[in-house]
Amino acid sequence: MSGTGPGVGGTAYDAGGTAYDAGGTAYEAGGTAYEAGGTAYEAGAASFDALWADLAAIGRDPGTGGYHRLAFTPAELGARDWFAAAAGERALVVHTDRDTNLWAWWVGPWGGPDDPDALVLGSHLDSVIDGGGYDGGLGVASAFAALDAVRAAGLTPTRPVAVAAFAEEEGARFGVACAGSRLLTGALEPGLARGLRDRAGVSLAEAMAAAGFDPDRLGPDPDRLGRIGDYVELHIEQGRGLVDLGAPVGVADRIWPHGRYRLDFSGEANHAGTTEMSDRHDPMLTFAMTVLAANKQARLAGSRATIGRVQVEPNGTNAVPSRVRAWLDARAADEARLGELVEVVARQAGERAERDGTGFALTPESVTAAVDFDRGLRDRLVAAVGRAVGRAVGGAGSGAGSGAAVGGAAVGGAGSGAAAARVARPGGVPVLPTGAGHDAGILASAGVRAGMIFVRNPTGVSHSPGEHAETADCHRGVAALAAVIEDLAC
Ligand SMILES: [Zn+2]
Repeated sequence: MSGTGPGVGGTAYDAGGTAYDAGGTAYEAGGTAYEAGGTAYEAGAASFDALWADLAAIGRDPGTGGYHRLAFTPAELGARDWFAAAAGERALVVHTDRDTNLWAWWVGPWGGPDDPDALVLGSHLDSVIDGGGYDGGLGVASAFAALDAVRAAGLTPTRPVAVAAFAEEEGARFGVACAGSRLLTGALEPGLARGLRDRAGVSLAEAMAAAGFDPDRLGPDPDRLGRIGDYVELHIEQGRGLVDLGAPVGVADRIWPHGRYRLDFSGEANHAGTTEMSDRHDPMLTFAMTVLAANKQARLAGSRATIGRVQVEPNGTNAVPSRVRAWLDARAADEARLGELVEVVARQAGERAERDGTGFALTPESVTAAVDFDRGLRDRLVAAVGRAVGRAVGGAGSGAGSGAAVGGAAVGGAGSGAAAARVARPGGVPVLPTGAGHDAGILASAGVRAGMIFVRNPTGVSHSPGEHAETADCHRGVAALAAVIEDLAC
């Protein structure tokens, strides 16, 4: 499964002979409890609307419309209170684990938090700086609403079921993405985590303590992890893959590998007025060329490169800078392509530094391997999504309701680029890779069977106030998640 490009052969979605071929599949029969117009569907939709109305008010900047729910800030703590209230209204049992991840358990004769093989649904409640409201929160609100839909359908579980909200997923405050799930799985060393500092110099340990949590408890929890049988994360799509396909809901099959690298450019500070242009050793020039090179090389390779953070010394209008420090975020369909991209950018930066008489160094800060989600679970998700929404939808765009039964079609839309280059549509449900990291990927890397469901984002914009999902699509996501609970846990 190494993203070899459009029309990959030999997958389950090739024409002919798959479970998703036209005719006779379970979800074509129609009449599930979660189709629009059904009681359970309406119950889930109404629950979602109420949950969303409360959550959407928390941490929102009325000026920009963006969200500021950084870890352990009052807004993020407010979102945690929302979680506890939502769980309480549903008589779910709430736990905050040692890594400050939140859990809400539907406890009954079928089991609870101390029993094995739980189905866990969830996402996260924190945001980036001025982020969108759907990233994370949509998955948590949808999970609660899906439980309501399942209950409205009169179903009871056969295994433990929980809703989770993982802490500090964005890494927007302390710099490590998915910190909560990484701590839980042991992928982030607790001492290292405690010492992480935000831009104001506050350590994670200090922020935790100020918010009423005990930083000394941070650390792996293999018992808790081992009791997760399946983790399913619903998330707003952070690209245009589904928009381009005219589909409201899809299923993920792979998370691209992702690296963050520190770029250090050094030169010689000097007077902006008296220093001849030819006498300068200006690291800003080397930096500027590197930004352009990263952009060009990523375009050429169908990969992603972003330089979105930069520090300049002395940062004066009338001074040639002495140092520029920047961070490169790079992602590609597989590790080999990621390595090639970073190598060529570094080589070109080094060559330019020689011409500029400056210094250049690249330091990897984190490199996260690709994640292939469990194929068995992925296929179950596709079938459940298909049952709930696959054939009952119209929506913006086209095709989703017409239900092309056979996948294998490669789709690479303008906005989705290579990330959507390997999209298959079994039963009309798109299966697509993503360039964004998620807690589901961290758990999958730790051996948990995990999968993801994406909800259409009309603009494809994410990590920005422009992020959006139509309410009807959110309701379809809830229905999809309810169908997943029914399939996996009832
Ligand atoms: Zn997210």
